[in-house]
Amino acid sequence: MDTGFIDHKKIYDYLDNTKPPDTKEVNDILERAKELKGISFEESERLLVVEDRDHLESIFETANYIKEEIYGKRLVLFAPLYVSNLCNNECLYCAFRKTNTMIPRRTLTQEEIKREVEALVSQGHKRILLVSGEGLGKSVLDYTVKTIETIYSVKVGKGSIKRINVNIAALDVEGYKKLKEAKIGTYQLFQETYNYKTYKEMHRSGPKSDYLYHLTAMDRAMEAGIDDVGVGILFGLEDYRFEIMALLQHIDHLENKFGIGVHTISVPRIEPATGSDVSLHPPYNVDDLSFKKILAILRITVPYTGMILSTRESAKMRKEALSMGISQISAGSKTSPGGYSEQKALEQFSLGDHRSLDEVILDIASMGYVPSFCTGCYRLGRTGNDFMDLAKPGLIKHYCLPNALTSFAEYLVNYGSLQTQNVGWELIGKMLETIPGESIRNKTGHNLEMIRQGATDLYL
Ligand code: SAM
Ligand code: SF4
Repeated sequence: MDTGFIDHKKIYDYLDNTKPPDTKEVNDILERAKELKGISFEESERLLVVEDRDHLESIFETANYIKEEIYGKRLVLFAPLYVSNLCNNECLYCAFRKTNTMIPRRTLTQEEIKREVEALVSQGHKRILLVSGEGLGKSVLDYTVKTIETIYSVKVGKGSIKRINVNIAALDVEGYKKLKEAKIGTYQLFQETYNYKTYKEMHRSGPKSDYLYHLTAMDRAMEAGIDDVGVGILFGLEDYRFEIMALLQHIDHLENKFGIGVHTISVPRIEPATGSDVSLHPPYNVDDLSFKKILAILRITVPYTGMILSTRESAKMRKEALSMGISQISAGSKTSPGGYSEQKALEQFSLGDHRSLDEVILDIASMGYVPSFCTGCYRLGRTGNDFMDLAKPGLIKHYCLPNALTSFAEYLVNYGSLQTQNVGWELIGKMLETIPGESIRNKTGHNLEMIRQGATDLYL
């Protein structure tokens, strides 16, 4: 049983033998966390075994404080684009798994992809997460590269997709080099579970059943020069405390080897999927309170790493999650190939949130969050360590808020419903006043006026 850099014994020894921290220890750790430099992974492990309700509340408050200090009210929005649900793997939790006969299979043609992207751009989207099953064999790279070209080429009015993150199966170094050349944003791949035994039980056959090859995918991606990588855990498969400890080992490994941490962490909880018993009865169901605890601990431990919440969460949970430090959410999402431009398509799993992009925006703007479609950093080459340099001194709030405001204004002018426009402009007015530097504030005010008059794509 080769588990690579995930030290299972260390995790089990800790979870079997440790006692929850007392009030003083919790408070000491949380005081340090408020310095906004992150806490050690050992301290994070102490928080992981907290069960006391008051202690948990303190952890939530601290996560909320860190989120407000570093990210402010900015929230990045994206839409997943599923292009193929063919798959050679047998991941028991997924509707796309090879032997599932309950869903129709399909791979979109470039013409169909174009239609999907037109539908997304017409709603106002600027960021796409490209998602695919693992059933395209050797043609996967050519298909993906072509798909990326197609997506970037679509223009509807003044709108187009500015950033494409990619979530496709593990590749070799050569494959990742090609993906990088195609100008992807973040490369995402979820380990699903870091527990070797559970991994083997859940991934019965196909290339993904190789634990070590999957685990080392980000090493190969980084070797190939992709410096924005996104990891994730599918919560519900294993004890979440095991998963978080292992995730921290993964991040530690990448930081030691490449000097760069992970750009994002995705936190999906398992959802009912057609033809999957495991998804209906997850072996380690994560309740809402535990889920909040997971989010809060991650926010406290790695404050500068983006945290992504998917469509799969209900509107209520999304609201709570935002205050715990989620920095990106999907909105108006379909999880079936063809889902945006066609009616009949069958979803990968039942979505908890069926609202349109405009409804999601209205909702989050009403809560005081500024939806951001900004992609300025990537286009100015601020990725990987460059991004971390910008992020670490806590500048995200100051730097990105102006760009979030202008990108939101652009959304309102071109796509917002009347109600969303009303709520949105009022929020923009309020948030403009909170920009600390006078010169940036004035420049942002000027950019907002230009956008009202029809300008697009203005960012600092
Ligand atoms: N085939 C690639 C892979 O497996 O990495 C990418 C596509 S796969 C559909 C993307 C993600 O969907 C998986 O990493 C998994 O975490 C998630 N997923 C699959 N079934 C799910 C379910 N029932 N509920 C929630 N997420 C699920
Ligand atoms: Fe295929 Fe990915 Fe679903 Fe597994 S999770 S069955 S690899 S699409």
